[in-house]
Amino acid sequence: MNVTVGHLYPDYLNIYADRGNIAVLTERARLRGHELRVVPIGLAGAVPNGIDLFYVGGGQDREQALVSGDLEKKGEALGAAVEDGAAFLAVCGGYQLLGRFYRDRAGAELPGIGLLPLHTVAGERRMIGDVLLECEWAGRTLAGFENHAGRTHLDEGAEPLGRVLAGFGNDGESGFEGCRQGRVYGTYLHGPLLPRNPWFADRVLADALAHATGGEVELEPLADELEAQAHAVSAARARARGGRY
Ligand code: GLN
Repeated sequence: MNVTVGHLYPDYLNIYADRGNIAVLTERARLRGHELRVVPIGLAGAVPNGIDLFYVGGGQDREQALVSGDLEKKGEALGAAVEDGAAFLAVCGGYQLLGRFYRDRAGAELPGIGLLPLHTVAGERRMIGDVLLECEWAGRTLAGFENHAGRTHLDEGAEPLGRVLAGFGNDGESGFEGCRQGRVYGTYLHGPLLPRNPWFADRVLADALAHATGGEVELEPLADELEAQAHAVSAARARARGGRY
């Protein structure tokens, strides 16, 4: 099966090797006999049809300011694609712009596309370090790295991606991290995220394949020994020092 990923602003929003998430999805699709095609979607480019999964990485306030106006113009097309069942994975700065707005450290309010029920306001101190989450909805944990000034506030009733076991998470207070809504996932977790969290990579891949095929997709499990070790090391680091300024 062919599955198409729309990679938003790869030249602007790609810190902490966020691009590595695409490499993981490509390889995990290949190992199951599927072919993953990546379509870059840049400034002024239209949102192509037939995208099964949209992906956007993180970036500094400056890069977010360079893309947010253009992203706002794409908001309707992205909303329609998600309405039609396309999946979406957004990391950090990209995650913030999936909400209503991001007020950056200079106080400028960058418009978001409102795909997720949240808004973000930058604070004084950056929240940096290893993170470990409990994802009760999947009975699994997620491990990664965070570095953000933004404090993200979820609307009442919004679903977080996970509960913080170690680290700061959305705002360093609520005890939650990220947000998920159907096949749309937002998170502060860099690293990149997916190499050390193969279950979540398969979750996002299965959602993209479900859109491509029109039906739910079961992926046969892979050995993932190295991935499990990477997760364990990352989780141990988070437990040891996550969530401290
Ligand atoms: N610039 C945003 C912040 O500081 C996002 C940072 C990032 O993507 N790592 O919160």
